[in-house]
Amino acid sequence: MFGQKYDSIIRRMFIASVKKDKIFRASVISCIAYKKITVFGENKNKTSTVQHKYSKDSSRVHIHAEIDVITKAKQFLDKDELAKATLIVIRHKLSDDDVTYIYGNTTPCSTCRAAINDANIVKVIYHDGTNFVFEE
Ligand SMILES: [Zn+2]
Repeated sequence: MFGQKYDSIIRRMFIASVKKDKIFRASVISCIAYKKITVFGENKNKTSTVQHKYSKDSSRVHIHAEIDVITKAKQFLDKDELAKATLIVIRHKLSDDDVTYIYGNTTPCSTCRAAINDANIVKVIYHDGTNFVFEE
């Protein structure tokens, strides 16, 4: 869909989202990929000062997957590299048949949008609930 590299990352993130394994306990999985560097993140039931900084609503301070991965990626990538990197956000949801898992909506919220813009990230892959969206 987006090339072999991204397709395999997206598949891996989707499976992690369903399984909630030891590494990924959350259901929203994020990734920032640039060349050989791949950093993963997840939503957390924890608060963060970074989330708080971008949030307009002071009661919504739990870490979103986008904020988590941006915070981590900044340890490995500078602003110019982040501008060329791709941010991917994936979650699963149960389909109407109550058996199969399908991709859920991961359109970034306004808080994450502000953090994405601030980090210089322009390439973003998410699912809008119907289709994948690739902004670039
Ligand atoms: Zn968000």
